[in-house]
Amino acid sequence: MVLADLGRRINAAVGDFSSSSAADDSGIEAMLKEISNALLESDVHFQHVIKLRNSIKKQLAEQADASSRANKRKLIQKIVYDELVALVDTQAEPYKPKKNKSNVIMFVGTQGAGKTTSCTKLAVYYQRRKFKVGLVCADTFRAGAFDQLKQNATKAGIAFYGSYTENDPVKIARLGVEKFKEAKYEIIIVDTSGRHKQAEELFVEMQEIDDAVSPDQTILVLDATNGQKAQDHAKAFKEASNFGSIFLTKLDGAAKGGGAVSAVAATQTPIAFIGSGEHVQNIETFTPKQFIAKLLG
Ligand code: GDP
Repeated sequence: MVLADLGRRINAAVGDFSSSSAADDSGIEAMLKEISNALLESDVHFQHVIKLRNSIKKQLAEQADASSRANKRKLIQKIVYDELVALVDTQAEPYKPKKNKSNVIMFVGTQGAGKTTSCTKLAVYYQRRKFKVGLVCADTFRAGAFDQLKQNATKAGIAFYGSYTENDPVKIARLGVEKFKEAKYEIIIVDTSGRHKQAEELFVEMQEIDDAVSPDQTILVLDATNGQKAQDHAKAFKEASNFGSIFLTKLDGAAKGGGAVSAVAATQTPIAFIGSGEHVQNIETFTPKQFIAKLLG
């Protein structure tokens, strides 16, 4: 189920309850079941669904004085909204780069998640905010990664660093960051490799690059179409790279998004940005309340 349908289904479940003539208890059970099913089908992890369901039930019981069905409906809508916000709101502020210093931002994530695209999006985002921005391509694993970054960067008028001949990503990352630091670049974005298979090697390489460039912020690029895998995936990356925020990609189109919501809840790491298309300007900042309000329409 795509994310927009989740909102519609939750609203319909609440609406059904408030207009049905069933007794409160059975009506509430039916509504909670429908809301839970909708969340599960959107790939929200069952642990979070159970927690959310219990919390709604508890709050409804505590506030049983809401007399009419219309009042109950408002109350339920508020509880559902608050609970969904709580799932994606980690209360942590994503990193805010400072002017007149070098802010090093390292991107991690699996191949195909949208890392290279998102690196450029973020570079353009900061360039528009008057930061001096440089991009470093430390992905020596994927053939064509450097060309892709170089092309994107050139099109957007952003400085880049990479090598066709050097195949040590750690060395490239170190040299690129050094070069941009010397030239007083304020945002230095490092794109790393995201190979699918050899996960162990990927994690070792990530840690070596981390040691070499000491990032101020590491961002995990997470594909919103990833489904249930997203939570485990994010947990593994969290252990290996301790990323500080998430860039959630491909939220346009057919993304279910629930897996990403679960990944946020499981790693307690905020989503800082959303990718809403393939173009460089398709980047949005993430605000939990806005995101859920939009979801629930
Ligand atoms: P990488 O292997 O992680 O560096 O992934 P790429 O940056 O090459 O992206 C993989 C594919 O996802 C490309 O076709 C991108 O255009 C596409 N992509 C990246 N971000 C988004 C997004 O927010 N929305 C959509 N629809 N596609 C995206």
